[in-house]
Amino acid sequence: MVNAAGSVGNTTAAQKLILLVNLLLFGAGNMFTSIELREAAAIPDHNDTAATGDQILGYTRNWRLITRAEWGARTPTSVANFTGPAPYVILHHSYQPGVCRTEDACKASMRSMQNFHMNSHGWPDIGYSFAVGGDGNVYEGRGYDVVGAHAPNYNSRSIGLLLIGNFMEELPPAPMLQVAQDFIKYSMEEGHLRDDYILHGHRQVRNTECPGDALYAVIKKWPHWQDLN
Ligand SMILES: [Zn+2]
Repeated sequence: MVNAAGSVGNTTAAQKLILLVNLLLFGAGNMFTSIELREAAAIPDHNDTAATGDQILGYTRNWRLITRAEWGARTPTSVANFTGPAPYVILHHSYQPGVCRTEDACKASMRSMQNFHMNSHGWPDIGYSFAVGGDGNVYEGRGYDVVGAHAPNYNSRSIGLLLIGNFMEELPPAPMLQVAQDFIKYSMEEGHLRDDYILHGHRQVRNTECPGDALYAVIKKWPHWQDLN
């Protein structure tokens, strides 16, 4: 009996020890499990964040589209509708005005070009479809849905993209070149430009120095640039 009692007593002590060890292991196990669950729950959030946004689309969109209303455009005297997606991008420089480096200066440049095109050329509106400013924004000209006046024979089948400034000898500021390429990608992925669009400098389709020697040398290395055959 003593032995049995001692045995019971020993067993009880051993069982308590096992319980304690189990409790510690179980408790620790729970702690790890809950940490792992929290981490596992955090992973999809992280992936969602990484998967959303502009990486998937291929453009950065770190620029803003400044609308006609924002830069104070005059109402066009007439409008011819354009139906995209356009097969061509025709790239220009303005020669004048020069590079604008603030939003206010670029808005003023847009107004001065529109006045010149409407008052001196008698055109219904600014000629270009869009313009890139030295402030790193894109300015709406005639936009995607209106035929431009920037390159005869190509107006009704192209987006006329202007880089504001004189780029005969000097290159546009680097962000301007980046935004121009980004805007072209954006236009394609938004369905305004064909996937197999062709990029030309203005001088390829008309006898002009536009878009300037320095800028033309750069755009010849851009995707979709083609020589005239
Ligand atoms: Zn031009």
